[in-house]
Amino acid sequence: MTAAAETPTRKGSEAAAEAARRRTFAVISHPDAGKSTLTEALALHAAAITSAGAVHGKGDRRGVTSDWMEMERARGISITSAALRIDYADRVLNLLDTPGHADFSEDTYRVLAAVDSAIMLLDSAKGLEPQTLKLFDVCRARKIPVVTFVNKWDRPGREPLELLDEIEQRIGLRPTPLNWPVGIAGDFRGLIDRTTGRYTKLHRTPGGATRAEEEPMDAERAAEVEGAAWEQAQEEIELLGEIGADFDEESFLAGESSPVLFGAALPNFGVAALLESLVRLAPAPSAQRDTSGEPRPVEAPFSGLVFKMQANMDKQHRDRMAFVRVCSGRFDRGMVLTHAATGRPFATKYSQAVFGSERQTIDTAYPGDVIALVNANALRVGDTLFDGDPVEFPPIPSFAPEHFAVARAVDSGRYKQFRRGIEQLDTEGVVQVLVSDVRGEQAPVLAAVGPLQFDVVRHRMEHEFRAPIELSHLDYNLARRTDAASAPVLHGLSGAEVLSRRLDGDLLVLVHNKWRLRVIERDHPDLVLEPLLAGG
Ligand code: GDP
Repeated sequence: MTAAAETPTRKGSEAAAEAARRRTFAVISHPDAGKSTLTEALALHAAAITSAGAVHGKGDRRGVTSDWMEMERARGISITSAALRIDYADRVLNLLDTPGHADFSEDTYRVLAAVDSAIMLLDSAKGLEPQTLKLFDVCRARKIPVVTFVNKWDRPGREPLELLDEIEQRIGLRPTPLNWPVGIAGDFRGLIDRTTGRYTKLHRTPGGATRAEEEPMDAERAAEVEGAAWEQAQEEIELLGEIGADFDEESFLAGESSPVLFGAALPNFGVAALLESLVRLAPAPSAQRDTSGEPRPVEAPFSGLVFKMQANMDKQHRDRMAFVRVCSGRFDRGMVLTHAATGRPFATKYSQAVFGSERQTIDTAYPGDVIALVNANALRVGDTLFDGDPVEFPPIPSFAPEHFAVARAVDSGRYKQFRRGIEQLDTEGVVQVLVSDVRGEQAPVLAAVGPLQFDVVRHRMEHEFRAPIELSHLDYNLARRTDAASAPVLHGLSGAEVLSRRLDGDLLVLVHNKWRLRVIERDHPDLVLEPLLAGG
């Protein structure tokens, strides 16, 4: 590049053009709905379309999941989240991985702070499942547009209209199908594009998991070939038209309606349509609002949000890595950024892009991309880094914990290390730390979204802070935010305990279960008991 190409305006318009090409999203689903299979299918399909065939992170499953930590390998699960970059024609799709284990953690939620849209993946036989609901709550709170993919249509499942009804009734999201299946779940014949009316017949390829053959077919011939299944689909489509279930951009972008597509990731049915719709409908990175509500345009100088911290990836180095979503401007490796929280400089000589388990050095990145910064001990989840005009993005909210345990140092002689470790893990957002005068300083309560977070704490306390801990689980499974006036009343009740969150001082009341909570609410209607975000 010439010197003239590097003027701020030139850099800004380049960033804007690159941002427009990008779609940054996550898949929200319940374990086993088919997230890995779909991820793989999306990557393979995109690679087949993109002549360069540049799929980073490979198409195979090992490339998609991350397995940095020893513990992860031992358990064969993914605790951390990384990004998968998929080149699709002239677009760049950044798929941020939401750890897909039954036992998920706050990291899963935080990923949603870094995306512009989400695919809600449903198993056609199961519909909305608990983790999908929790993750959807976060999408709703953040007004993230959601595209719905009803998967496993090649297997027996529920009626399509019944599934739509469930979505509307249970989560108040208005479904607007973009295509409609011909043939019931388990006898999947093909898809009708509701906008164009075009029919695509799907042919199963022997052997299963290869790309399905898709045959465009005109209506007359389709009616002949598919018979009663065609008739039924036509009737249902008519009904959809009557109830006004048509795609509506405004309500989609506001997170109020959701385009729905049907398909099956495993035999690759309907994946092409999903990819197309995502590129066409999902929003590109746009101006992010800062703490004062001021939007920072994508063409402004570099800014990024730390949405995840990862420790211990390299056993030789105990340093932490920060995953940063680029919000504005062009990122060039080697830039010296400013850390908004401290005003200190942050050097990015060793920045990396993380695609699945692969790490590669990255030289430039644009809005919507994810970069990983090493030696990031000073950074915290929710922090902003910027170049040029100062900016600070709002913090990522903490989520409703459902698991609670008292931590104690095994060796009381190592209390100093114990305290330092707990404080560090709290600040990093590995768990939330709750304290109370009653329990005392030596016995803080750890609060987690998923119990796996406790294992991470235990592991790091022992290996990194050399202060092994013992955990005693508490018999509470939900938390509500309360206030100073309600706290003393609540504290006196059985099956409830009030603690304060170390980081922000918020008062939380822990309750045994939702039945106990109902009784408390009924008997004390004046007490403040506010739900926390997601799951609470
Ligand atoms: P994840 O836990 O959401 O990542 O789910 P996986 O992608 O691992 O899929 C769970 C199981 O469902 C695996 O056995 C997949 O082969 C299977 N599966 C995923 N998609 C489909 C599909 O479209 N049709 C069928 N029949 N099976 C599927």
